[in-house]
Amino acid sequence: MTDRFIFTRYRTTCYHCHKDADQIIKAVPYQSQVICENCGATRIFIPRREEVTKEGSFTRIGCYDLWNIVSDASCRNCRTTGPHDLAIGCNHFTARCRNCGFTHFYKFDLEYVAKCPIEGDD
Ligand SMILES: [Zn+2]
Ligand SMILES: [Zn+2]
Repeated sequence: MTDRFIFTRYRTTCYHCHKDADQIIKAVPYQSQVICENCGATRIFIPRREEVTKEGSFTRIGCYDLWNIVSDASCRNCRTTGPHDLAIGCNHFTARCRNCGFTHFYKFDLEYVAKCPIEGDD
């Protein structure tokens, strides 16, 4: 059994380095992360609840753009692998199975920058 749940990427303007860069999105049942491929800015989200919900139940207006992404994942509830709707905002991260509506709701926990590129070292 693997606990990898979601692994995808989303290209957008990074809130930290302000470059157009891939944001790597990883989620497992106990944590989710969004990492900027360019600057390493990392946001960690921790799970708050898991339940079957109606579409949009957890979507709230964030402080900047809400990302809506579709990624294939295998659902722990209905045991099928198929599209999940991800909604990622500044203080929440949700992943919802389209087949059964099972939703993982994560809340923003902390952020850090994983690497500090040295300027002018090429
Ligand atoms: Zn960045
Ligand atoms: Zn499901």
